[in-house]
Amino acid sequence: MDLTRLRVAVRPHADDPHRAERPEFSVPYLPDGCPAAEPRWSPIDGVYSPHQGTVCPDCLPRWRRDADISAPYPNLLPSGNPLVILLEPAPTPARGVSLDLATCLDEAGFTRAGWLPLPGLADTFVWDHPADQTRVILHAFGVEFHLRHPGTGQRFHTHLGRRFSPARLRHLLAAGGYRPDTDSVPHPAPPPEGWALDSDETALLITIADHPDAARGSLVLDAALAEALHAGWITAVAMPDGSLVFAFRSQR
Ligand SMILES: [Zn+2]
Repeated sequence: MDLTRLRVAVRPHADDPHRAERPEFSVPYLPDGCPAAEPRWSPIDGVYSPHQGTVCPDCLPRWRRDADISAPYPNLLPSGNPLVILLEPAPTPARGVSLDLATCLDEAGFTRAGWLPLPGLADTFVWDHPADQTRVILHAFGVEFHLRHPGTGQRFHTHLGRRFSPARLRHLLAAGGYRPDTDSVPHPAPPPEGWALDSDETALLITIADHPDAARGSLVLDAALAEALHAGWITAVAMPDGSLVFAFRSQR
């Protein structure tokens, strides 16, 4: 049985009150039945479970209760493409989806986004990168990243919980060769009388001890501050008296 030979389009019924949140999608069609186990299934498409992410003659009547199912058609997707895919975008921002995360991923090229029922995962919102066949999945327990190493093209997978720092997100996307516009990554507002410093300026001030609190610091503290600045965990603001004020970046 070939997972990639035939597909069907699944279009949720027009009278579905949540139709706007449930875009049309497509899944493999298996004329010989959905197998009990499918070792070739990739976590990029969720967790395989029979009759969940695939359609066969047995489960077709159940699928038709919620959606119009097209006639089977030949699969024209390139090999390695996710098998359960969106056919139309969902309106964004969507319920339960961080606008910052959505903006950041959109800028990185993950432009095909929407609610997509992946088997075995609850409430899945998916972002696909159409050119790279990479995918980010937001679900009840966190965010899954199915990316490729920019040099080798080899796939890798990482996971973040529901709460993570913008720096962690940026670092992870960079590992997959994506560099979203840093303007979309949220910064805390500086105190009104101070001005924001970038991490290099701040590290320099700390290193040359050119601030009023330098005498109270220590090499260990300075090193920890410099590391946190470069990792993007904290930001620094210079006050009119020359002192430095540090803030944790907002957690989203
Ligand atoms: Zn089935």
